[in-house]
Amino acid sequence: MLDFTPVATTIVDKLAAIVGKENVSTGESELDLHSHDQSFHEPHRAEVIVWANNAQEVADVLKLAHNKHIPVTPWGVGSSLEGNPIPIHGGILLSLRNMNHVIDVHADDFQVTVQPGKPYKDMNKDLSKHGLFFPPDPGANATIGGMLANNAAGIRTVKYGASKDNVLALQVALADGRLIRTGSRSIKQSAGYNLTQVFVGSEGTLGIITEATLKLSPVPEYSSTMIAAFETVEVAIEAVVLIKGSGVDVAALEFLDTPASQTLASRGLDIEPSPTLLMEVHNAHAESQEADVATVREICDELDAASFIAIVDHTQAQAIWHARHQAYETLIRAFPDMKFHVMDVAVPLSKYPEIVAFARQEIANAGTMAFLIGHAGDGNIHVTIPWKDADSLAKVKAMNSAIVHKALALDGTATGEHGVGIGKAPYMPDEHGTGLDVMRQLKNMLDPHGILNPGKIFPAD
Ligand SMILES: Cc1cc2nc3c(=O)[nH]c(=O)nc-3n(C[C@H](O)[C@H](O)[C@H](O)COP(=O)(O)OP(=O)(O)OC[C@H]3O[C@@H](n4cnc5c(N)ncnc54)[C@H](O)[C@@H]3O)c2cc1C
Repeated sequence: MLDFTPVATTIVDKLAAIVGKENVSTGESELDLHSHDQSFHEPHRAEVIVWANNAQEVADVLKLAHNKHIPVTPWGVGSSLEGNPIPIHGGILLSLRNMNHVIDVHADDFQVTVQPGKPYKDMNKDLSKHGLFFPPDPGANATIGGMLANNAAGIRTVKYGASKDNVLALQVALADGRLIRTGSRSIKQSAGYNLTQVFVGSEGTLGIITEATLKLSPVPEYSSTMIAAFETVEVAIEAVVLIKGSGVDVAALEFLDTPASQTLASRGLDIEPSPTLLMEVHNAHAESQEADVATVREICDELDAASFIAIVDHTQAQAIWHARHQAYETLIRAFPDMKFHVMDVAVPLSKYPEIVAFARQEIANAGTMAFLIGHAGDGNIHVTIPWKDADSLAKVKAMNSAIVHKALALDGTATGEHGVGIGKAPYMPDEHGTGLDVMRQLKNMLDPHGILNPGKIFPAD
């Protein structure tokens, strides 16, 4: 049972003494702004918002909170989709917004050391002059701290990996105020427990990331975006498996069902309203680019794709990927009186056809509107369902439960990239079994008073 102390005025004064008076707020509008993420989960206010300016301030705030038993929820930009940064137990909301600097670009090593509040798109803009970029790319302009904490992924994960695959070292403030460093700048690391990966994906429940050294990739010399439309979902999904098996190292392999492509088409994206694959290849040479495009085209032709186009014009390609990134916002704008439940199951690629077929059957049985948008190359599918009242939400939750359990039965996971937050917590015992007890022990060891982002990852007792 969690037992926390309310934030008294004396605590607010102590926080102001650590971070400066101008970096503490109990104002209604700030509390509201930081009470919700981008999901449908119920908002909840913190008692005070604190903007830390450096790692030592983060550590000092944690030490105070640890000693006084006050919850602390870290905050990037609040773009999560599972309630991950909602301060459901009140307390201190610790924003990393002011810690938004690139500390060092190690261009010759393809690395960057950065503060956690830096939004990744802004960082990639800074890095473009070095011909480098950080490849994980969730749709929103998420912060590096939020991406690492959720182990975010994105459209390019199929080639470059998720956040976890692109981090070498961290500085982390622990609940009791200790500041530790994990990992090193060496690509190869074999020195004991991999503490870096303990904090990646921990959603701010084990420590607060105050600095990260990330792996970068060279901006590709050549790239080509491809759009293929198919008669049926089944054939589109068959193409996913064949393209991945062809040896072409696709840099994006995204699936949209007919309702999803229809919605994007209605908002200006020049695609047909059919089951569609959006793809990209990155190459060092024009010849390898042509060969990759030819292979993908051949597979799509063999499956009688209704259309196939390859685009090399950078501006045109960017418009397509921008539209794909904006898919969630586009749906929200298209149905302004609805809320959206976004599922995030992922399965081994060979099981992808089965999970998609299962999800479609569930949708058909429920007779509900739904949009299937998937990072298909990673076996990840977002079943996005609008709802507007308690009855329709209950129906969606039942579908979510069925789809998650199917994914687990297929050796998959409840969440491929959005993290557990509040929404996926009920499925963690089924997904991890006794492993969840070990996670609890780790949590209790690093955060004995349970102050760090309480109420997340673990289901309520
Ligand atoms: C339109 C849209 C599209 C999206 N597309 C994708 C996608 O393709 N792939 C994907 O993975 N996600 C996607 N997301 C979800 C979201 O953008 C990611 O989960 C992102 O990583 C959240 O980053 P943030 O900076 O907003 O963090 P927040 O939401 O503020 O926080 C995320 C979690 O990290 C914790 N946290 C924040 N900073 C730190 C820190 N420094 N140290 C420790 N813990 C911290 C918070 O307490 C919280 O638990 C999308 C969201 C939207 C709105």
